[in-house]
Amino acid sequence: MRKIVAGNWKSQKLMDEGQQLMNALLEGLSKRTPSDTRVIIAPPAPFIGAYAIQLQKEGHQANLELAAQQCSAHDFGAHTGEFTASMIQSAGATSVIIGHSERRDRFGETDEVVRAKLNQAVAHGLTCILCCGEQLDKRQAGMEKEVVEGQLNSALSDVTDEQVKKQIVIAYEPVWAIGTGETATARQAQDMHAYIRSFISERFGSEVAEQVPILYGGSCKPGNAADIFAELDVDGGLIGGAALHADDFLAIIDASDAS
Ligand code: PEP
Repeated sequence: MRKIVAGNWKSQKLMDEGQQLMNALLEGLSKRTPSDTRVIIAPPAPFIGAYAIQLQKEGHQANLELAAQQCSAHDFGAHTGEFTASMIQSAGATSVIIGHSERRDRFGETDEVVRAKLNQAVAHGLTCILCCGEQLDKRQAGMEKEVVEGQLNSALSDVTDEQVKKQIVIAYEPVWAIGTGETATARQAQDMHAYIRSFISERFGSEVAEQVPILYGGSCKPGNAADIFAELDVDGGLIGGAALHADDFLAIIDASDAS
């Protein structure tokens, strides 16, 4: 399966700063042999259209794809301030992150809202990077698998086997490892990823499970990416802080290519 490295820029860059970062990534990628890894960046939504035009003009759409960090749970309508999955797709993004823990914790996204957003994204042809992961207290209580299974079960209730196979990417992001410098060990990541794959296999069949990429996210950096990516069921990473520095992000892409 083709690995994926996706960078979540969160609310961290202005338009021109993001452009410089994207240019540095393009330059770095052009100096390498074509990467085996699918490389995706998720800049702030207002920049997607302009960045997509640049990528298209310069012929880079194949090397670097754009994602949104979330989308509306609604389709077109009188929803002031919302941006729909169809708008993201028409602006030039191929993917969208759904159910990031910061959206769940800070913006009240319940499992139901996550499911509605995922359904919108799937309906509009986007790849969905569906985030799941437990809080520290749940891991300490030995309930991490229950939490992750509950999130996935709910988010994927309405999608077909074919949609899961073609459009769903899962990102396991233990909440205690996001932006904290604390990383899951390679063994903890593999253990959860294997569990997620077996869940997908039971729900959607083994052929689908073999084709669904499962990314790890949570303080993944150049120094630990190779160890984590070497695990059997780790198919790449969703990267936050390290995605804001071109050299770090490129080093993580290299680790993915080498794994
Ligand atoms: C994230 O927010 O998805 C993430 C993985 O962040 P960080 O790499 O900074 O922990």
